[in-house]
Amino acid sequence: MTNDARETDFAILGGGISGLGAAFSAASSGSTSLLLEKEERVGGLWGSECRDGFIFDHGVHGLYPAGPEMEATVAEMKRIVGDIFVEADKNTEILFRGRLVRYPLQPAEFFTTYGIEGFLWALTLVMARLRVTLTGERWMRSFRDYAVGNFGPLLYRIYFEPYLKKVWGVDPVRLDLESVARRVRRIRIRTFLGQALRRSLGLRGRQTYDGLQPLRIVYPRLGAQRMVDAIRAAAEEKGARIMTGAEVTGLRTEGGRWAVTVSRGGESREFLARSVISTIPVPDLLGLLAPGPRDELAPTIGALRYRALRLLNVMIDCDRIFTAQWTYFQGDNFSFSRINEYRNLSPDFCPPGKTGLSVEFNCTAGDHLWSMPDDELFDLTARELEQPIGRRRDIGRVVRARHTGYFSARFAHAYPLMEVGTSFHLDRTRAFLARFPRLRSIGRQGQFRYVNGDECFHMAAAAVAALRNEMNR
Ligand SMILES: Cc1cc2nc3c(=O)[nH]c(=O)nc-3n(C[C@H](O)[C@H](O)[C@H](O)COP(=O)(O)OP(=O)(O)OC[C@H]3O[C@@H](n4cnc5c(N)ncnc54)[C@H](O)[C@@H]3O)c2cc1C
Repeated sequence: MTNDARETDFAILGGGISGLGAAFSAASSGSTSLLLEKEERVGGLWGSECRDGFIFDHGVHGLYPAGPEMEATVAEMKRIVGDIFVEADKNTEILFRGRLVRYPLQPAEFFTTYGIEGFLWALTLVMARLRVTLTGERWMRSFRDYAVGNFGPLLYRIYFEPYLKKVWGVDPVRLDLESVARRVRRIRIRTFLGQALRRSLGLRGRQTYDGLQPLRIVYPRLGAQRMVDAIRAAAEEKGARIMTGAEVTGLRTEGGRWAVTVSRGGESREFLARSVISTIPVPDLLGLLAPGPRDELAPTIGALRYRALRLLNVMIDCDRIFTAQWTYFQGDNFSFSRINEYRNLSPDFCPPGKTGLSVEFNCTAGDHLWSMPDDELFDLTARELEQPIGRRRDIGRVVRARHTGYFSARFAHAYPLMEVGTSFHLDRTRAFLARFPRLRSIGRQGQFRYVNGDECFHMAAAAVAALRNEMNR
């Protein structure tokens, strides 16, 4: 093993947006840093695959300027990476009970689209919200309780239960309340109804939030990878060292310093650092630390599981398939949960006159959807798209006949799976990690929390500031 005697202020493990944010903040505040990323490029979940003139992101990755805080974040990001963005109205549809409806459904549309049945859903939704307003939420234990409480038992049974089972792979009664509530926001009835009224009167103005979701999206015009590459360039310009193809394989304290073992190009090297910011999956971090948790935390390491994502990216010689940027497929008769059509965000994602579909399969690393060969996955997708989709009957046929190629991408750590009881293991993990001086585990993977990229970026800045204080003490 070779030893890099130069000591750095920060060793940063992982080069996703959290790690890059940490490198940028450290360099901006005059600290030295070394970022170690095991893949050959930076970005982690926040990235793109480019092929034959098409750009496919790792799922839609944008910024949502709903409210002053997020608007400030967008402005900050533009200062760092330049104005590489387009801004668009969010346009989301759901295939629900055979109909393709925009999301969220406006109050009047419950009735106009689904008749009496829709009216009943809307009524039970309002009654459920009234009950929660009067009695509070303390009775809620699981995501099932959350969805029943906020959307009513009818919508839970016909919409949320099957969809959540598909996305998370477990029964919603086993899903932790807090984490999943971050994904499906609490509906604010007053805002929702107010916005719907204004919209129907044509008074849209500068609405950015409709009581359920942000209405605008700010998107890297040439794909998410451009944004992370630009953060990398800005960090390097300020002096950060960034090493790709460098997998961290060990971590120990030695004489008040951290020694980080890295495998790169078949060689093992050791780097010294005064502090460590880890953004890699927290069970992996526990496995790397010496002295390690051994038997003490073995059940915890096993309990912190991630839901994986497989994307099938299909290039198609046709102008457009869907009108929405995201189309959700709720029922059991579709193996995928969502299809993204990036040209509906920015035409620069595809060559002129062509479009690309990115089909999202939620799965578990190693299961049948994860392992299925690409041609079988394509066949499955085309076959399932042959079913009626709203008024369309031809989507599967068009995809089969006009595609010019496809490939898939896999992400083993797409979603931290927060089950009821996981918070106990997270408390134990935090208590264990707190024993080590000048170590922070942050970001989506490091915190094991369902957080967005902007939150990761800010978390990284806060970790750098806190560790700088500790080092200066
Ligand atoms: C489908 C999907 C859509 C999303 N959409 C949005 C969105 O629209 N807007 C938004 O803000 N957020 C979105 N998110 C969330 C966003 O992707 C994450 O919050 C963010 O990218 C997480 O960044 P991170 O750096 O914490 O983790 P990661 O991106 O996972 O980075 C961790 C890095 O650590 C590296 N690593 C792991 N082990 C090692 C090791 N031993 N040595 C060295 N390196 C290692 C990995 O290769 C990886 O690069 C979405 C997420 C998904 C899955």
